[in-house]
Amino acid sequence: MAGRFEDPSSPSLRAPRRLSPDLILLNGKVFTANPANRYVQAVAIAGDRILAVGTTQEIARLADTHTERIDLAGRVVIPGINDAHFHHTPDPRATVLSFRSMEPSWDEVLDSLASTVKEAPKGDWILGIHGISVVNDPRATRFELDRIAPDHPVRLNAYFGHGSVLNSKAIAALEMSEEEPDPFGGCCERVPGTRRISGKFFGYAQWPHWRRLACQASDEEAIESAQQLAQEAIRFGVTSMQNMSLMATGRYVRALERAKLPLRIRVIRFPATGAAARDLSQAHDLPEQPQRGARVAVSGTKWLLDGTPLERRAALRSEYRDREGWSGQLYLPEPEMRAMIHESLESNDPLLVHAVGDRTAELFLGAMESEAKHVDWPSRRVRVEHGDGLLPDLVPLARDLGVIVVQNPSHFVFKDIFAARYGEPFDYSPARSLVEAGIPFALGSDGPLNPFLNLMFAVLHPSRPSEALTREQAVEAYTRGSAYAEFQEQEKGEIAPGKLADLAVLSQDIFTLPVPDLPRTESLLTVVGGEIVYQSGTIQRPAERGAAPRSRGPS
Ligand SMILES: [Zn+2]
Repeated sequence: MAGRFEDPSSPSLRAPRRLSPDLILLNGKVFTANPANRYVQAVAIAGDRILAVGTTQEIARLADTHTERIDLAGRVVIPGINDAHFHHTPDPRATVLSFRSMEPSWDEVLDSLASTVKEAPKGDWILGIHGISVVNDPRATRFELDRIAPDHPVRLNAYFGHGSVLNSKAIAALEMSEEEPDPFGGCCERVPGTRRISGKFFGYAQWPHWRRLACQASDEEAIESAQQLAQEAIRFGVTSMQNMSLMATGRYVRALERAKLPLRIRVIRFPATGAAARDLSQAHDLPEQPQRGARVAVSGTKWLLDGTPLERRAALRSEYRDREGWSGQLYLPEPEMRAMIHESLESNDPLLVHAVGDRTAELFLGAMESEAKHVDWPSRRVRVEHGDGLLPDLVPLARDLGVIVVQNPSHFVFKDIFAARYGEPFDYSPARSLVEAGIPFALGSDGPLNPFLNLMFAVLHPSRPSEALTREQAVEAYTRGSAYAEFQEQEKGEIAPGKLADLAVLSQDIFTLPVPDLPRTESLLTVVGGEIVYQSGTIQRPAERGAAPRSRGPS
């Protein structure tokens, strides 16, 4: 089970058989993410593991005739980025609406749709990603979409995942009725005074149509989509992703396995709800622990407890400043929190919850605390995704329970919206204070994949600069912290002897360059399990200068 540590005497952690390295990286600035030995100059890799770290001289001495050497010429190396919170759901073939920004107005959506329907074959899906203003615009209903697109199924999704709009053709294509009832934990908006659905969906009311649309993607489309994502990831030095997909878990995992990806993926179950209960049937028959060397693993189940402040559905203990009498919405109430805690304990399957509001966080931590006499919570590593509502009064309890907080720096940018929703000053959206309080802390993108864009937001924290992380804290959270958040810190997350050789040589020094330049960083060389899975033309390997290329077995 993913919840257990590996036995340190297991073959995976034994010293590699051969004591001379296959590959050495010399003359670098290697950030190890190991607080006891943060920077070294050189790394030796044997098989799929780090053999040694040290000075260039020390590492060079280990080489023999079969060792490949790369001169880093002072470049920065980091452990491979581990994106702890990502969503990847393959879509079927579709035309995608283009907008001038991530925040199109409803009028811009309609304009773009009007020109798209002229081009797209009748009956083809039209998909769009919109922002906050469409979610909160009362005109955004299926009826306005129907006027422009009567013959195409249209689905619009908020980029933050909380609020989607479908036209009537899409509603019919995805087998929903005119008076579709709210599923458990979901909300179908209605035409005022009637039971007719307006076409706008929140919370678990989004799952049925998300799921069914993902079902329409073919296996080949799913495989291609995963391969594209993986190629983008390794160009950024991402070597592990923890992925919540809306495709049914079993099918998604089989597609990933067939895709033979160059990086590691942990698939986290992300189940839907039915009419009256959460769906507990998700793929618990799949083997949890990857076979030795396999890059796809399945573990953990994530539930959505509330929404976000953007659409005002994060559940707060106080009213929203900009909506009188409204304090958000719990999608899954407190008895469900207790039930999922018990399910996780019984199945030994890690539990992850989306909890954004402080009311949600308080209720969830309270539900854990009521079991604390019988349960060693820190060993369970329950994850709170986002953790925006872990206000200072809740932090001591969260720490005692060993809760891991997974933050998403791209969410730190909504300064004006947070100020409007919460009033100023506010204590939401913590980061640095959690790290300093000793809360296990990880980073995931939950948005743009570019980890260096996310690092920029982490070290600026535009909505609360006092909560900004240092660059080292942020990289540690994205590597060692994310590994801990998947019970894998014995295997990866640091450049240290015995760990998997997952690392990236970067195009620039992310620890010293001006912060606004961070997002332009790329990987020059990405290594997963000792195998070079990506290299850009700017790094030269001796093999390319004439030596015979040495084959490296798959890890
Ligand atoms: Zn998410």
